[in-house]
This record gives sequence, C-alpha cells and structure tokens, in this order.
Amino acid sequence: MDLALLDETLAARDEPPFRARQVWAWAAKGAAGYEQMTNIPAELRGTLHEQVPFSTLAVQTERRASDGTVKALFQTVDERPVEAVLMRYRDGRRSICISSQSGCPLTCTFCATGAMKFGRNLTASEIVDQALHFRRLETIDHCVFMGMGEPMLNLDAVLAACEKLPDIGISHRRTAISTVGWIPGIERLADSGMPIRLALSLHAPDEALRSQLMPVNDRYPLADVIEACRAFYERKRRRVFVEYVMLAGVNDRYEQALALAKLLAPRVAGEPHMFKVNLIPYNPIGGPAGAADSASRAQEQRDDRYQGSTREAIAAFKRGLEQDGIEATVRLTRGRDIDAACGQLAARSAV
Ligand code: SAH
Repeated sequence: MDLALLDETLAARDEPPFRARQVWAWAAKGAAGYEQMTNIPAELRGTLHEQVPFSTLAVQTERRASDGTVKALFQTVDERPVEAVLMRYRDGRRSICISSQSGCPLTCTFCATGAMKFGRNLTASEIVDQALHFRRLETIDHCVFMGMGEPMLNLDAVLAACEKLPDIGISHRRTAISTVGWIPGIERLADSGMPIRLALSLHAPDEALRSQLMPVNDRYPLADVIEACRAFYERKRRRVFVEYVMLAGVNDRYEQALALAKLLAPRVAGEPHMFKVNLIPYNPIGGPAGAADSASRAQEQRDDRYQGSTREAIAAFKRGLEQDGIEATVRLTRGRDIDAACGQLAARSAV
C-alpha cells in the first residue's frame, strides 16, 4: 500500500489523522482488503478502494515447494518483476526473504539475479508490500533482505521499510540486511538507530578470487570491507553473518577455509568473535532464463559455469573454520524445486 498516497487521499478529504493509523493497523495485521476494516466508515472504505490500491504489487504467480517454501512473483505498476520467498521451519519460525530492487546492477558471477537486466530500485511501499503479502497468508517473524538486488544501493527505501516491519510482526533484531560489501551502506547501517543485523556476502578468502567472483570487490576490496564490518560490530555489538557459497574447486579447498578463518579471527587474543559463517550449498542457476521443462533444465545445469561443492568438501571446510574457532553452519537449502533457493530469484518466468 502506498502510504504517502493514503495520507494524501485522507488529507484531501479532511479525515482525522488517526484514520491512516487505523488503515495501517489493519493492513499490518494481515487484512485482505479495505472491506475488512470495520472501524472505517463504509463510504470511506469505498473511496480508498478506488483511489489507493491495496497493494503496489500485483501477484503474477505463487508457487509452493515440497518443503513448504512459498515463492511469489509480483509485478510493479510499471511491470517490473519482483520476487519474494516465505520459508517455513519446523521450529515454527516463519522467515521471509525479500527484494530491494527489481534485478540487480551488480554482476556476481554465481547469482541468477546478477545475470538479468537491472530494472530499478523498489520504493519503501513496494518492499513493505512483499511482507504484507505473506502476512496475509500467516504470521511472520523474521526477514532477510536476500532476495533480488543490493539493499545498500537502495538504503533509504530499505530502512523506511524496516521501520514498518515491527508492526507486521518482525522486530529489527529479527531483520537482516545482506550486502556484497558496499561500505558506505555498512557505515550508514551502523549509524542507524535500528538494531538490524548485518550479513556479508564474502565468498572468497582473498582479493584476487573475490574480484573474479564478484567484480564489486575491485571497488570495495575485501580488506576494507572486513574493517567496515569490524567497525559495525564495535558500534552495534551484533555479530556479522558471513555468507559463503560453496563452489567446487573454486573456493572450497581446505587451505581456503584456513585462510578464511584467519581473515575473520579476532585481531588480538581475548577479543570477541565478530563473525559467524554460513556455508551455502550452491544452487544451479543454469543458462538463460526460460527453460521450463526438465530436459532443458538438466541441460542448463550441465552448462552452468559452476558446480556445487560436495557434501564432504563442505563438511571439511566447516571443520577447517571450526578448528580455528570460527563458528560455522551449513545453510539448509529451501525451495530448490521451484527456483526459490538463494541466487535463483531471476524471475525465470518473467523475463
Ligand atoms: N546483494 C545482496 C543481497 C542478495 S542475497 C548480497 O549479495 O548479499 C545474495 C545471497 O544469495 C548471497 O550471499 C548468497 O548467499 C546467495 N546466493 C546467490 N547466488 C547463489 C547461488 N547460485 N546458490 C546459492 N546461494 C546463492
């Protein structure tokens, strides 16, 4: 819902200021439309229905994976694709993964979004509407900005959306913003009053390999990014989560685990551990989008420039980190059968 338009529409009718709050309270609790807002006069509900679209996003398709993951593909008013995912965990957690941009201007070589054309930044309302969509399905309590786009390149809108998330059930502490290491954004997030978690997409323990995998490393080199994360920790006292996609023969060797552990280790003995590593099984992104049938998908996977690391390699890498005192987990892969897993949000059906 475009909250600025809501305010304007109410102001033009000289409605009392509490009306906007009433409407938002209903929306944030998962109301399906204005008709459910029983404390708003019917005539006003009718006007809002006509003048303020209930969502800034139209649902194009919604798919459910066998593990309960739900992926929604939306379209903005100007027909840009936007994807978001709801993940359901056994312990009851309901986590949403949302997009900050349609497409992405960065070109990380292993990510499907990086291969599609960049569209534009999303507005705060378009970001919030992804959360509201899932809130209408069920209660949600965690949010990660790990969908399409680089949140730090659209930080005003992302932070404005974050201000709204607690009303929807997602506290700042249960919100994480993931970045390629865009240093000005990390610094701004450190300055923000909201206790939002920082996640860093690292993917390689040395400058040369990281630049090869993620060209943005030429602009913000690894060493400087790590310093910015340490400064973030000093300010916020919240550990930074490091994401590391496991690519066979590329970044998954045992020596690379040791190099990563060294990079992330406390600088002086006794200093707390500031980083926790999430090892991410690689999800194939295939060739050009559009191959929907399984035969061409299998072909695509053979064409992929990367192969995921074996389970054994991931386990050995994890041991390498842990041996040096770095906490590491292996991320559960969710929703792979519907291309909802990390890095697969390329709006395959929308390009
Ligand atoms: N631009 C931000 C937000 C996008 S989330 C960022 O890069 O952090 C990006 C995350 O998706 C990466 O950290 C990685 O964890 C994951 N990812 C991207 N491509 C992937 C792939 N093909 N397989 C598995 N994970 C991938």
